Amino acid sequence: MKKTSLSYLQKHSNMATVMGELIPDLLDSEDIDLDNKILCNLFVETVEQVPIAISITDKKAKILYVNQEFCRVTGYQPEDILGKNESLLSDKRTPRAVYQDLWRTISSKKTWRGTLCNRHKAGTRYLSDLTIAPMLNESGEISHYIGMHRDITESYESEKITVNQKLLIESVINSSPIAMVVLDDQNRVILDNHNYKALVSDLDLIEPARYFLDLLREEMGDLWLTLQTNEKGFSNREFRVDSKKNRRSRWFSCAGNWFTEYEVNADAFFEKASKRYLVLTLTDITRQRRQMDELYIQTLKTLMAEDERVRSIRETLLGAMHQIQMPMNQIGAAEQILRHKGMSQNEGLLHVLQEIQRSGEKAVATMQYCIPEILQSAVIPINLNKILHDVLLLSDQKIANNGIEVHWQPLSQLPSLLGSENRLRILFKQLVDNAIDAISGSSVQEHRLKITTNTEDDLIYAVIEDSGPGIPIEKRAKVFEPFYTTRPIGGNKAGMGLVMAKEIVNQHHGFIEIDPYFDQGCRFIISFPVHTSYGRG
Ligand code: FAD
Repeated sequence: MKKTSLSYLQKHSNMATVMGELIPDLLDSEDIDLDNKILCNLFVETVEQVPIAISITDKKAKILYVNQEFCRVTGYQPEDILGKNESLLSDKRTPRAVYQDLWRTISSKKTWRGTLCNRHKAGTRYLSDLTIAPMLNESGEISHYIGMHRDITESYESEKITVNQKLLIESVINSSPIAMVVLDDQNRVILDNHNYKALVSDLDLIEPARYFLDLLREEMGDLWLTLQTNEKGFSNREFRVDSKKNRRSRWFSCAGNWFTEYEVNADAFFEKASKRYLVLTLTDITRQRRQMDELYIQTLKTLMAEDERVRSIRETLLGAMHQIQMPMNQIGAAEQILRHKGMSQNEGLLHVLQEIQRSGEKAVATMQYCIPEILQSAVIPINLNKILHDVLLLSDQKIANNGIEVHWQPLSQLPSLLGSENRLRILFKQLVDNAIDAISGSSVQEHRLKITTNTEDDLIYAVIEDSGPGIPIEKRAKVFEPFYTTRPIGGNKAGMGLVMAKEIVNQHHGFIEIDPYFDQGCRFIISFPVHTSYGRG
């Protein structure tokens, strides 16, 4: 057996050299038993065949032994490299500090691990993931170093390609004018771009994505679940976000797509597991919406002007009818007296009076016929925020001209009420115009108009608050009476505005009052019942 072992080692002359130094005479020794010799052979064979490049050096990195994998990875055969320094492998690109660290570590009897840039015998560069461990002799001194390395060029390249792809994707999504966010199945933000981050402060929302998801779920209802289950995307879902900072609303068009990604953790190595993500894009369409808004407001102004024209014609005609009716009543009374006295000499006068009476009645009938109808608008579920927003836009110029600061504080998810958009717009336009007139007509320093919406106990509240002089307590009940005004009568200030306002509130089964506890101006509180069957709007 001794012969077999030795002949084997002689076959591997490279290995014999180093083994001769490392385990001197071990295999020649008569003391070593057969089992141990077999074990030694096995050990030598293992090192020789192990698929990792192994080299053993002296204390100065002079190479004493290399295995088959070392030859494969470096391209050097044992005869090329034995006796040479490991620095032969260096591509001279590895920074000096790396070698200093390497030597500092191994000289202090510790294991060093790192990546070096090596050169293959053929001249090509490769990356070596290298571990160097010191080997200690019986007295604990370093006698040799063992180096083990792998060519990691390919895995490094693919890792870098992945990193570069990620950077490319990130820079593309960051340069996009659209806010983008990727959410996991728990609605946690996994990835977002600069524009999305900007929304957090612009909209004063902690997590805009969650806010939009809530709106989407609410708007789509069951469809949302179906889309999610089938991983079908959605697009062009438009939402308004009322900013708390200023009364300018912003509009966003939302689109989304679900995708599935395989888990990469160890648990999912044999049992494939996947996770679903949603890519949500939010496009700011405020400019387009503002243009549409302007067109809309222009239409509203035309509509409301038409409404006002109809009302003023009605009032003029009713007033004229009333004016004619009084003398006609008197003529009618005179006619009665003459008939009663039966004086024949007054026949002519009686005839004239009857003529006047007839033409008067004809005129009243013509006027009655000419009174224009007030168009009744449809009763539909209404979002009060939208009505108040319309009113603010309608009064925009007046507000700016009077230097009024508007505090617009709508409740973001206000339930809807059932009513007529047009009537409600007239109601709030009246209250807002009153507030503007009160502020501008007084000498108060602060020009502030605050409008809030809220909901509580199945009621929707709108509060219109101004910093004007307010209405004295004793007059608060009277302002809802016809022809009562705190201002001088004249022009269109006929004291009918709040009467009409109250009438509209009543038609909507609501309630209007002046807040008795507010003393820094005037505060109107208007409440309406929530419309339940249509849900929140
Ligand atoms: P060098 O002049 O050799 O040395 C660079 C720095 O290391 C200097 O700061 C110097 O002070 C310090 N240094 C060098 N030798 C010693 C020493 N004996 N004791 C203390 N400090 C010292 N390098 C590679 O590039 N690729 C490899 O695959 C590789 N494998 C190695 C495997 C083993 C087992 C060992 C021990 C070393 C290995 N090295 C390898 C390191 C190699 O020996 C060189 O140090 C390195 O290549 C730098 O060579 P150089 O000629 O540029 O500089």
